[in-house]
Amino acid sequence: MNQNWHGTLIRHVLLLITACLVIGLISGYYGWSLAAGLGIYLAWTLKQLLRMHEWLRQHKPDEPPPDGYGLWGEVFDSIYHLQRRDQRVRGRLQAVIDRVQESTAALRDAVIMLDSDGNLEWWNRAAETLLGLKTPQDSGQPVTNLVRHPRFKEYFELENYIEPLEIPSPINDRIRVQLLLTRYGNNEHLMLVRDVTRIHQLEQMRKDFIANVSHELRTPLTVICGYLETLLDNVEGVNPRWVRALQQMQQQGGRMQTLLNDLLLLAKLEATDYPSDNQPVAVSSLLQSIKNDAQELSGQRNQEITLEVEGSASLKGSEPELRSAFSNLVFNAVKYTQADGKIQVRWWSDERGAHLSVTDSGPGIESKHIPRLTERFYRVDSSRASNTGGTGLGLAIVKHVLLRHRGTLDINSVVGKGSTFTCHFAPSQVINP
Ligand code: ADP
Repeated sequence: MNQNWHGTLIRHVLLLITACLVIGLISGYYGWSLAAGLGIYLAWTLKQLLRMHEWLRQHKPDEPPPDGYGLWGEVFDSIYHLQRRDQRVRGRLQAVIDRVQESTAALRDAVIMLDSDGNLEWWNRAAETLLGLKTPQDSGQPVTNLVRHPRFKEYFELENYIEPLEIPSPINDRIRVQLLLTRYGNNEHLMLVRDVTRIHQLEQMRKDFIANVSHELRTPLTVICGYLETLLDNVEGVNPRWVRALQQMQQQGGRMQTLLNDLLLLAKLEATDYPSDNQPVAVSSLLQSIKNDAQELSGQRNQEITLEVEGSASLKGSEPELRSAFSNLVFNAVKYTQADGKIQVRWWSDERGAHLSVTDSGPGIESKHIPRLTERFYRVDSSRASNTGGTGLGLAIVKHVLLRHRGTLDINSVVGKGSTFTCHFAPSQVINP
């Protein structure tokens, strides 16, 4: 096979020319016999070329090439072997693709591939049961047309896929699905969908349990606090030895009531995704009233509380919820800042949305605590919290209210210098007059 075709070809041509010259010598027509010899050779070559063309055009897999002589036979065989090799490689690749498709089809989680415009390209069987996608009708459809939940549309368009999204399944409200999007390749999307109904139910049970316990404890506590108050109102009829004990009981009872109220508020905030009363809230007047309350809370401590409002942006949302979040931040600043300290409240808006910052000159918070501050009952220093009468739920409430108002909380603090708590609200949540 590995002959030197270069030499063979030259030999063949020389042989042909010699044969033509011999014929020319015999016949006396050198020119004509040479031309005739070369013409015949050219015609034979063209015929082989045409045979090859015909074979390639009508080529069926596994059909052997036509028989060829000399170099042409070699060319036919080489092409045939190349094709066979190509077929084998393609077969192996197809087997890999089939295996990947089979294994993803067997997954209980849905896997969906979307193109760069968010149109469906490929999905596995679980996507049909979890999201109700139909093969092949839905191929090429925009995913937002098939998963129509408003939070999904928002999540998909915001392109911030760090956190997964949990929504009810489009085909069955009782199934809860968790969606996670990732970008790959040429801005294509890979969407993973998991059935989290059981986890959701357990989470719901936990929330319901806390809400029910808080609710059940409220009535007896109100009765106990009511009697304590009556007893202390008639302090002259009470044995003086008991007065201090009663006062402490009333103080702790009050703390428990605030704790229960905070727990109930948190349960209420967790029950729905967005506030039901989505009204324009005039933040500047809300802050003014919170500032007045803060001044009262500060009492004799001579703290300087300032309020700066730039522009007149309002927020869409629930006024009681926003009041609760903002006052938690401002009251924390008052509670944790020493006498004569400074507390500055700022409200402003720009192209990135609206912002509220509460800066104090208090003790500051070590950076290791900052990521955990919004956890329930997390306290930097428990002795400090019991002095201030805090419940440890204030910042958890702030976080939940902000989540429901498309906001985020940013905490900056330097120990010994003070802290700044900043709430950022997305432009879609801001109303500029
Ligand atoms: P609490 O009811 O105890 O104030 P929060 O959830 O409001 O609970 O705050 C959690 C913890 O964060 C507090 O216990 C306190 O240690 C710390 N903290 C909150 N705000 C400030 C602040 N402005 N300065 C210093 N520490 C703060």
